[in-house]
Amino acid sequence: MGGLFGRAALRRLLGGPRAPLRPCSGEPSWPRERTLVAVKPDGVQRRLVGEVIQRFERRGFRLVGMKMLQVPESILTEHYQDLQGKPFYPALIRYMSSGPVVAMVWEGHNVVRASRAMIGNTDSCEAAPGTIRGDFSVHISRNVIHASDSVEGAQREIRLWFRSGELLDWVAGDHQSCTYPA
Ligand code: UDP
Ligand code: MG
Repeated sequence: MGGLFGRAALRRLLGGPRAPLRPCSGEPSWPRERTLVAVKPDGVQRRLVGEVIQRFERRGFRLVGMKMLQVPESILTEHYQDLQGKPFYPALIRYMSSGPVVAMVWEGHNVVRASRAMIGNTDSCEAAPGTIRGDFSVHISRNVIHASDSVEGAQREIRLWFRSGELLDWVAGDHQSCTYPA
Protein backbone atom coordinates (compact mmCIF):
# COMPACT_ATOMS: atom_id res chain seq x y z
CA MET A 1 0.00 0.00 0.00
CA GLY A 2 1.37 3.45 -0.85
CA GLY A 3 0.14 7.02 -1.18
CA LEU A 4 -1.04 9.31 1.55
CA PHE A 5 -1.80 6.54 4.04
CA GLY A 6 1.07 4.17 3.11
CA ARG A 7 3.69 3.02 5.57
CA ALA A 8 6.35 5.38 4.23
CA ALA A 9 4.02 8.35 4.59
CA LEU A 10 3.11 7.26 8.08
CA ARG A 11 6.80 6.81 8.98
CA ARG A 12 7.54 10.31 7.64
CA LEU A 13 4.66 11.68 9.65
CA LEU A 14 5.79 10.00 12.87
CA GLY A 15 9.50 10.54 12.39
CA GLY A 16 9.39 14.23 11.52
CA PRO A 17 10.84 17.00 13.64
CA ARG A 18 9.06 17.48 16.88
CA ALA A 19 8.95 20.26 19.40
CA PRO A 20 10.94 19.55 22.59
CA LEU A 21 9.08 18.49 25.71
CA ARG A 22 7.81 21.66 27.32
CA PRO A 23 5.31 22.63 29.98
CA CYS A 24 1.71 23.42 29.13
CA SER A 25 1.16 27.13 28.61
CA GLY A 26 -0.95 27.10 31.78
CA GLU A 27 1.96 26.42 34.17
CA PRO A 28 1.10 28.20 37.42
CA SER A 29 2.55 31.55 38.29
CA TRP A 30 1.15 31.25 41.84
CA PRO A 31 3.02 29.45 44.62
CA ARG A 32 2.78 25.68 44.27
CA GLU A 33 0.51 24.18 46.89
CA ARG A 34 0.89 20.58 47.97
CA THR A 35 -1.09 18.26 50.19
CA LEU A 36 -0.76 14.84 51.74
CA VAL A 37 -3.38 12.29 50.70
CA ALA A 38 -3.32 8.77 52.10
CA VAL A 39 -5.48 5.81 51.17
CA LYS A 40 -6.03 4.18 54.56
CA PRO A 41 -5.79 0.41 55.20
CA ASP A 42 -9.51 -0.16 54.48
CA GLY A 43 -9.19 1.68 51.15
CA VAL A 44 -6.16 -0.40 50.16
CA GLN A 45 -7.90 -3.67 51.16
CA ARG A 46 -10.97 -2.68 49.15
CA ARG A 47 -8.87 -1.95 46.01
CA LEU A 48 -9.78 1.75 45.98
CA VAL A 49 -6.25 3.08 45.32
CA GLY A 50 -6.80 3.37 41.56
CA GLU A 51 -10.18 5.06 42.03
CA VAL A 52 -8.60 7.69 44.30
CA ILE A 53 -5.70 8.35 41.96
CA GLN A 54 -8.05 8.63 39.00
CA ARG A 55 -10.19 11.23 40.73
CA PHE A 56 -7.19 13.42 41.59
CA GLU A 57 -5.65 13.06 38.13
CA ARG A 58 -8.93 13.86 36.38
CA ARG A 59 -9.44 16.90 38.56
CA GLY A 60 -6.15 18.19 37.16
CA PHE A 61 -3.80 17.77 40.11
CA ARG A 62 -0.25 16.57 39.72
CA LEU A 63 1.12 13.56 41.58
CA VAL A 64 4.58 14.45 42.90
CA GLY A 65 5.18 11.61 45.37
CA MET A 66 3.73 8.21 46.19
CA LYS A 67 4.63 5.18 48.28
CA MET A 68 3.03 2.17 49.93
CA LEU A 69 4.02 1.62 53.52
CA GLN A 70 3.17 -0.04 56.76
CA VAL A 71 3.06 3.19 58.73
CA PRO A 72 5.39 3.18 61.77
CA GLU A 73 3.68 4.03 65.04
CA SER A 74 6.05 7.00 65.48
CA ILE A 75 4.59 8.62 62.35
CA LEU A 76 1.01 7.88 63.38
CA THR A 77 1.37 9.32 66.87
CA GLU A 78 2.86 12.53 65.49
CA HIS A 79 0.35 12.67 62.62
CA TYR A 80 -2.61 12.34 64.98
CA GLN A 81 -1.09 14.21 67.95
CA ASP A 82 -4.09 16.59 68.15
CA LEU A 83 -6.41 13.61 68.69
CA GLN A 84 -4.52 12.04 71.59
CA GLY A 85 -6.97 11.89 74.47
CA LYS A 86 -10.01 11.37 72.23
CA PRO A 87 -11.88 8.16 73.11
CA PHE A 88 -11.41 6.79 69.57
CA TYR A 89 -7.64 7.47 69.48
CA PRO A 90 -6.37 3.97 70.45
CA ALA A 91 -8.72 2.35 67.91
CA LEU A 92 -7.62 4.87 65.26
CA ILE A 93 -3.94 3.99 65.75
CA ARG A 94 -4.79 0.25 65.66
CA TYR A 95 -6.80 0.72 62.44
CA MET A 96 -4.10 2.81 60.75
CA SER A 97 -1.55 0.11 61.69
CA SER A 98 -3.72 -2.78 60.52
CA GLY A 99 -2.33 -2.92 56.97
CA PRO A 100 -0.50 -0.98 54.29
CA VAL A 101 -1.35 2.62 53.44
CA VAL A 102 -0.72 4.36 50.11
CA ALA A 103 0.58 7.86 50.78
CA MET A 104 0.69 10.48 48.07
CA VAL A 105 1.59 14.12 47.64
CA TRP A 106 -0.58 16.03 45.17
CA GLU A 107 0.15 19.49 43.86
CA GLY A 108 -2.03 22.17 42.32
CA HIS A 109 -4.01 25.36 42.76
CA ASN A 110 -5.81 25.30 46.13
CA VAL A 111 -5.20 21.56 46.32
CA VAL A 112 -5.63 21.49 50.12
CA ARG A 113 -9.14 22.94 50.04
CA ALA A 114 -10.12 21.09 46.88
CA SER A 115 -9.00 17.72 48.20
CA ARG A 116 -10.94 18.18 51.43
CA ALA A 117 -14.02 18.84 49.30
CA MET A 118 -13.24 15.76 47.19
CA ILE A 119 -12.91 13.42 50.19
CA GLY A 120 -16.01 14.73 51.99
CA ASN A 121 -17.04 14.95 55.61
CA THR A 122 -15.10 12.96 58.23
CA ASP A 123 -18.31 11.22 59.26
CA SER A 124 -19.27 8.95 56.39
CA CYS A 125 -23.00 9.42 56.88
CA GLU A 126 -22.59 13.20 56.52
CA ALA A 127 -20.30 12.88 53.48
CA ALA A 128 -22.08 14.01 50.32
CA PRO A 129 -22.62 11.54 47.48
CA GLY A 130 -19.94 12.19 44.87
CA THR A 131 -17.23 12.60 47.47
CA ILE A 132 -14.84 9.71 48.09
CA ARG A 133 -16.13 9.07 51.60
CA GLY A 134 -19.71 9.68 50.48
CA ASP A 135 -19.36 7.11 47.72
CA PHE A 136 -17.27 4.44 49.43
CA SER A 137 -17.70 4.47 53.21
CA VAL A 138 -20.44 4.02 55.78
CA HIS A 139 -18.63 4.42 59.11
CA ILE A 140 -16.48 7.25 60.49
CA SER A 141 -13.83 4.81 61.71
CA ARG A 142 -13.41 3.26 58.24
CA ASN A 143 -13.51 6.35 56.05
CA VAL A 144 -11.02 5.23 53.36
CA ILE A 145 -8.87 8.31 52.96
CA HIS A 146 -6.91 11.06 54.65
CA ALA A 147 -6.21 14.54 53.27
CA SER A 148 -4.50 17.42 55.08
CA ASP A 149 -6.88 20.07 56.36
CA SER A 150 -4.76 23.24 56.05
CA VAL A 151 -1.76 24.48 54.08
CA GLU A 152 0.41 24.56 57.22
CA GLY A 153 -0.82 21.11 58.24
CA ALA A 154 -0.04 19.79 54.78
CA GLN A 155 3.53 21.09 54.95
CA ARG A 156 4.00 19.50 58.35
CA GLU A 157 2.48 16.18 57.27
CA ILE A 158 4.48 16.02 54.01
CA ARG A 159 7.71 16.57 55.99
CA LEU A 160 6.65 13.82 58.39
CA TRP A 161 5.74 11.22 55.74
CA PHE A 162 8.21 11.95 52.92
CA ARG A 163 11.91 12.73 52.55
CA SER A 164 12.54 15.60 50.12
CA GLY A 165 14.24 13.21 47.66
CA GLU A 166 11.01 11.22 47.40
CA LEU A 167 9.15 14.17 45.87
CA LEU A 168 9.60 14.88 42.17
CA ASP A 169 9.22 18.10 40.24
CA TRP A 170 7.94 17.44 36.76
CA VAL A 171 5.95 19.28 34.12
CA ALA A 172 3.33 17.92 31.78
CA GLY A 173 4.37 17.65 28.12
CA ASP A 174 2.00 18.26 25.22
CA HIS A 175 -0.05 15.36 23.90
CA GLN A 176 2.05 14.83 20.77
CA SER A 177 5.43 14.64 22.48
CA CYS A 178 4.08 12.37 25.23
CA THR A 179 2.42 9.96 22.80
CA TYR A 180 5.23 9.46 20.25
CA PRO A 181 8.98 9.01 20.64
CA ALA A 182 11.19 11.90 19.48
N1 UDP B 1 -12.17 9.26 63.70
C1 UDP B 1 -12.88 8.23 64.30
N2 UDP B 1 -13.94 8.54 65.10
C2 UDP B 1 -14.34 9.84 65.33
C3 UDP B 1 -13.61 10.87 64.72
C4 UDP B 1 -12.53 10.55 63.90
O1 UDP B 1 -12.55 7.06 64.13
O2 UDP B 1 -15.31 10.05 66.06
C5 UDP B 1 -11.04 8.93 62.83
C6 UDP B 1 -11.38 8.97 61.35
O3 UDP B 1 -10.69 7.91 60.70
C7 UDP B 1 -10.83 10.32 60.94
C8 UDP B 1 -9.57 10.39 61.79
O4 UDP B 1 -9.98 9.86 63.04
O5 UDP B 1 -10.57 10.37 59.54
C9 UDP B 1 -8.99 11.77 61.99
O6 UDP B 1 -9.99 12.62 62.49
P1 UDP B 1 -10.14 14.11 61.96
O7 UDP B 1 -11.10 14.82 62.87
O8 UDP B 1 -8.80 14.71 61.75
O9 UDP B 1 -10.90 13.89 60.57
P2 UDP B 1 -10.37 14.02 59.05
O10 UDP B 1 -9.40 15.16 59.01
O11 UDP B 1 -9.75 12.69 58.69
O12 UDP B 1 -11.60 14.29 58.24
MG1 MG C 1 -7.75 15.63 60.17
